Amino acid sequence: MDQIKIGKFISSCRKERDMTQAALAEKLGITDRAVSKWETGKSLPDSGIMLELCELLEISVNELLSGERIMAESYDKRVEENLIAMRKEIEEKNRQLLNTEIWIGAPATFAGLIMCGMAAYMEMPVWCRCVLIVFALVMILSVAFIAVGIEQKAGYYECGNCHDRYVPTYWQTNLAPHMGRTRYMKCPKCGKKSWQKKVLTKEIDADY
Ligand SMILES: [Zn+2]
Repeated sequence: MDQIKIGKFISSCRKERDMTQAALAEKLGITDRAVSKWETGKSLPDSGIMLELCELLEISVNELLSGERIMAESYDKRVEENLIAMRKEIEEKNRQLLNTEIWIGAPATFAGLIMCGMAAYMEMPVWCRCVLIVFALVMILSVAFIAVGIEQKAGYYECGNCHDRYVPTYWQTNLAPHMGRTRYMKCPKCGKKSWQKKVLTKEIDADY
């Protein structure tokens, strides 16, 4: 992206709307120094403020990033906004899913361990011990399978080699060695095995 061009474009759009740098800055809740930095091409508006800036300048995000007006673009603005909103929604849903994984997984694993402890140290008939241990194991295992299912569906894994982001199959996820949510898997794109971290979105730039 051409920061100088974008800066000049921001400056000319602002002047078209008879706004001073200070007035624009005030509307965005930032310092006029920040606006001056954009306009001289020293920095880019960050994504959190971009939509609002575009709204004030009556341009689209596409136009802002291109540093010029794009014709026949009016209807695309809606598409863009929808895309950004949709991406946020998906990201949020994935985050909630991963939280669910912890909320199901941690208590069940804990309860299972307590049951195993009881079976090992408390006085009880042998059959009782067996039932308790089997029950605990079944519980831990089924919860682990559910948790992996959630983890596989929520978000993507990023290849450590080519940085491609993809959704692995359930069994690929389940059988892969892991440390937390980072799993050692084979990338379908470059075919190399690497430690792949969990990411919430498909786009590289939208990391949290
Ligand atoms: Zn790869």
